[in-house]
Amino acid sequence: MSARGAGLAPDRGAGMTTGLSDADQELVRLARAIIWQRYRPGWHVVGAALRTRAGRVFTGVHLEAYVGRIAICAEAVTLGRAATEAGDTDIETIVAVRHAGGHDPGTALKVAAPCGMCREMIADYSPAAAVIVPSANGLVRKPIAWLLPDKYVRD
Ligand SMILES: [Zn+2]
Repeated sequence: MSARGAGLAPDRGAGMTTGLSDADQELVRLARAIIWQRYRPGWHVVGAALRTRAGRVFTGVHLEAYVGRIAICAEAVTLGRAATEAGDTDIETIVAVRHAGGHDPGTALKVAAPCGMCREMIADYSPAAAVIVPSANGLVRKPIAWLLPDKYVRD
């Protein structure tokens, strides 16, 4: 991790994080740090971090493309890293952070709720996963099932 990203607070300037455990605040900090470090407008704008039930932590950034619909979300890249590097896709908690531009991480970096496709993917791999999302009361953990009721199943 770069020195530039290492000092980032979990969500400075973007709401309270008092409802989150230290481990979850660390996950938010890692997601903020990776997109702060790898931010490239039009190419990498969202970062994510996940922790598995075994305690492994992974980060990733989203991949934009000239054909927008083939872009790959940061959550999917991060899950892919977990699958590839550790064979561990049992997500305990996941969070994504969007870089809105600018040079102040306190205002540029915002925790973002997962898109609909990522909700499907998170629930497919880890039906009991929690997702850190923004709320009127700051950042909160929500079960993925709350974010995706009546999900698609193939059985
Ligand atoms: Zn997504």
